[in-house]
Amino acid sequence: MARSVETLLKDASKAGIEISLRDDNTLGMKGDGKHPLVSVLRENRTGILVWLDTIRAIENRMINGRVFLVDVWKNLIENPDDEELSRSFSHHLHLWATLDDDLRDIYGYEGCPVGGCDRDPYPEKVRDPVHHVDKDFYKQPLVCSHCAEGSGNE
Ligand SMILES: [Zn+2]
Repeated sequence: MARSVETLLKDASKAGIEISLRDDNTLGMKGDGKHPLVSVLRENRTGILVWLDTIRAIENRMINGRVFLVDVWKNLIENPDDEELSRSFSHHLHLWATLDDDLRDIYGYEGCPVGGCDRDPYPEKVRDPVHHVDKDFYKQPLVCSHCAEGSGNE
């Protein structure tokens, strides 16, 4: 392959071609359909799909991991002497940070993988009085490198 998927996607972006992974796992392409890159993108469709699917899987792991970590964090505040809980928190926090690094180092990812680290981590559908946390609470343990740099949330 002449170009890596990452380079290909960057070139497409520069050319104004918007590539996305549709919900049915097919490739979405918006922009100039006559651009010479379009045929190259089509030839590399499988590689691009795997690439985007992997990124989506990592994003989902980080979104779910954030909910899990906030739960453990809440638990830890109530049970500060629980060493097993403390180890679990450290372990999973490290994993979460590793996923964040991998996204950026391997996939050239930009932005916040969880849709804004200052937002309530619980999806609307699982929110309830038990799960809901104060606005400032979850900011403490968990911030992705994008949000930590203060470049805003996307
Ligand atoms: Zn973030």
